[in-house]
Amino acid sequence: MNPHVFPIPTDLASKAHVDARGYEEMYRRSIDDPEGFWREQAQILDWSRPFTQVKNTRYSPEDVTIEWFADGRLNASYNCLDRHAAQKGSEPAILWAGDTPGDQRRVTWSDLRQEVSRLANTLTKLGVKKGDFVSVYLPVIPEAIAAMLACARIGAVHSVVFSGFSAEALAGRIKDCRSRVLITADEGLRAGKYVPLKKNADAALESLPFVEHVLVVRRTSRDVPMNPERDLWYDGALAQAPADCPPVEVGAEDPLFVLYTSGSTGKPKGMLHTTGGYLVHAAASFRAMFDYHPGDIHFCTADVGWVTAHTYLIYGPLANGATVVLFEGVPTWPDASRWWQIIEAYRVNIFYTAPTAIRSLMREGEAPVRKHDLSSLRVLGSVGEPINPEAWLWYHEVVGGGRCPITDTYWQTETGAVLLCPLPGAMALKPGSAAKPFFGVRPALLNSDGSAVEGEGAGNLCFADSWPGQARTILGDRERFLKTYFSTFPGYYFTGDGARRDADGYYWITGRLDDVINVSGHRLGTVEIEAALASHSSVAEAAVVGFPHEIKGQGIFAFVTLKEGITESDELRRELLQLVRTRIGPIAMPDRIEWAPQLPKNRSGKILRRILTRIAAGDFESHGDTSTVADLSVVEDIVRRFQKQN
Ligand code: ATP
Ligand code: MG
Repeated sequence: MNPHVFPIPTDLASKAHVDARGYEEMYRRSIDDPEGFWREQAQILDWSRPFTQVKNTRYSPEDVTIEWFADGRLNASYNCLDRHAAQKGSEPAILWAGDTPGDQRRVTWSDLRQEVSRLANTLTKLGVKKGDFVSVYLPVIPEAIAAMLACARIGAVHSVVFSGFSAEALAGRIKDCRSRVLITADEGLRAGKYVPLKKNADAALESLPFVEHVLVVRRTSRDVPMNPERDLWYDGALAQAPADCPPVEVGAEDPLFVLYTSGSTGKPKGMLHTTGGYLVHAAASFRAMFDYHPGDIHFCTADVGWVTAHTYLIYGPLANGATVVLFEGVPTWPDASRWWQIIEAYRVNIFYTAPTAIRSLMREGEAPVRKHDLSSLRVLGSVGEPINPEAWLWYHEVVGGGRCPITDTYWQTETGAVLLCPLPGAMALKPGSAAKPFFGVRPALLNSDGSAVEGEGAGNLCFADSWPGQARTILGDRERFLKTYFSTFPGYYFTGDGARRDADGYYWITGRLDDVINVSGHRLGTVEIEAALASHSSVAEAAVVGFPHEIKGQGIFAFVTLKEGITESDELRRELLQLVRTRIGPIAMPDRIEWAPQLPKNRSGKILRRILTRIAAGDFESHGDTSTVADLSVVEDIVRRFQKQN
């Protein structure tokens, strides 16, 4: 595919923190002198005790060490709150939009500091000490942010569990870190439906007698059972707690949080992140990748249960003193204009979302977007999956009015913050490419034998050196950490993703290496074939997997979801085959195309190819780890269609 190149907007570049020349210079310096570079970047934070050591990292087979700013001391909640509250206490830190249109709250920096302090004091009273874990199972409400910052304030480690997860998934995650305190709500509210959080929590805790206290936020104020020996109302407890709580100084390498990966490729991994390096990377990258300027309103649509929200809805923006929009609901309820209405109402400048959402909104057409004034937008972002060029172009044109650069940010729960992305004032954009490495980041494309691909070419995406936001371990499983990320290619961090580098040095994610299809000895990534299918005007979304094939070893199986109102036909099948043939070549033509009314996704909206792979192989019974599947009926639906045909 030969994509368009979108030049850097000149007006934006002239005011940007980093322009094209600036990027080249800073990137070079960050590689030549990482210590000097990161020492300077770390000044974005206030350190209660300045560090003298910057970087102590090694990826050698006998010793993997990851330490940043190790002798520095600081407090994350101080950096995200107090220093801003002191200067602009009455300005909003959080603009909250509830699930029901019109339901809204404005939380100032002073309000937030006070709430965090009261909660921190409450936790202390409940016996939580520095280093203890606290589990958080809350909807997207300001209390979720308060809970995280309150833990940080007293040096406790939060573990946020996405509120869409079941009792079982919650129990597993509480057990993993053995928190004695859980913060939850009576209920959640999503798309007008009640989510029984307290009920789920009660069920989860049946098998976890070590949980001593449950703090319950009143969200819907409907009746929920309370266990007087264990459960406490959040508002009641906070009302009795002092409004002042001095932040506890912690070491840069003390843990800040644990968070689980999305579970796209298997059982989720609990990644442990520490304080200093994570916060430096989150704050510095937030400022650069969205070209954040004081006064900007930032809207990140991720749920607080995902790393995207940890880094670019909460820690990164708040460390910079940014005002964030926090939205509880879904983009399509009550109708498909909900996000656009919020952007107009709050005059949002920076908007960050995921390709899956863009694709589902594209299905609804342009009208819901066009009826709102989105002229306040300046920079757009994408994260979570490769964005297919079709969706990129729609996002750019229809949402961004052709004027806003899109930063396609490649990173992982494991990486803590961004590794590859275009900086809006510094790089021309190619739809579907995550462009270039962030400062200090050293990507390498490796062949299976470990040799490096130089210049143009494709390979296993690895990183040759550490970066400050990197996870330090998998909680309770250092062996799995070393094995997953450092054993495949000794001396490198291995992402599990494939990528291609083009002649301009731009990176293109080709798909997860678990999903690579080997057709007659040719290794094909899923992303390019899916993007070709999705470029057809009748196609909403496509997922491609391999299946056993007598002659080719593996054949290509495409599951295709059509747009609203399009009829399935053999003619359309032929058109799609032809399209892949002309866009990529005969080698990439699917052997089978089946229509799927919907694709199976995990709770963060990512396509679960591992489940489709089993179905394509004729295994309709075992779906593997399904704890993160958003809607199992989608899988059953596909299986039913199949069984009818075969
Ligand atoms: P699990 O690790 O449990 O299988 P997951 O990999 O989906 O789940 P996350 O940490 O949420 O968990 O996602 C990181 C992955 O998402 C990356 O490894 C990559 O495959 C994909 N990804 C994220 N951002 C981008 C992007 N901008 N372009 C392409 N792929 C992306
Ligand atoms: Mg992963």
